[in-house]
Amino acid sequence: MRILLKISGEQLGYEQDGKGRGFDVERAKWLAGEIRQTLTDALNNGPTEIAIMVGGGNLVRGAFFDDAIKNNQIGQTTADNAGMLATIINATLLGDIFRAEGVPTAVLSNVNVPQVVDDFTYRRAESHFKKGRVVILGGGTGRPLVTTDTGAVNLALELKCDLVAKATKVDGAYTDDPKVNPTAQKIDQISYADAINDPKIRIMDKAALGMAGDHQLPIVIFELLQDGNIARVAAGETIGTRVN
Ligand code: UDP
Repeated sequence: MRILLKISGEQLGYEQDGKGRGFDVERAKWLAGEIRQTLTDALNNGPTEIAIMVGGGNLVRGAFFDDAIKNNQIGQTTADNAGMLATIINATLLGDIFRAEGVPTAVLSNVNVPQVVDDFTYRRAESHFKKGRVVILGGGTGRPLVTTDTGAVNLALELKCDLVAKATKVDGAYTDDPKVNPTAQKIDQISYADAINDPKIRIMDKAALGMAGDHQLPIVIFELLQDGNIARVAAGETIGTRVN
């Protein structure tokens, strides 16, 4: 079993006005513990290999500059490049913390900043997996105009992962926003087509869902901040919402 875990930047940040900002070392240490637990559990159930794609929204997203882009002050590509660099900051910090917490980890990036992080290649990632390392992926897809959700699905396909596990704040997808509509129901399973077409379901970028659907790559949307949830997803337990 090889899984690709997608963690947004906000999940690595401090809570500030309802958003995750900056980089929270304690959160990263907790995450390292969860990954260590997942790998230990996996020893009993057969090998699990973990790739992690990190977002950058705790630091910079291209969309932070939408006004300046509209006013032709900042180019879309420059703004998105800034977002991709933010993901590299997260990936390299997380990599150090994982190693310090005893989780063997390699960090690879799809944006080439060789003084900072090793370039991603498929062969390099495979070689790290063979050595028992977690592979943290920075730089998204390396191209502008998409997000790390799309990067997660794209890299999961390239690395022949069995599953994309998208970590969120909530315990899955709902028929409506549960904060606004108390009758909203949690969805245990949904097809790619329904997840794409239902405007009330906003669990992942449509482009990412479309690409996953084209290749029948299952996605599990689950709540990150519950001890043991990553291990549960890796063990194939039914938690959260499954898109397939
Ligand atoms: N980004 C990009 N190409 C990619 C991945 C990311 O241009 O393949 C840019 C884009 O501006 C995006 C930002 O990097 O908004 C940070 O990624 P994302 O918004 O996915 O982070 P998250 O919301 O998961 O923290």
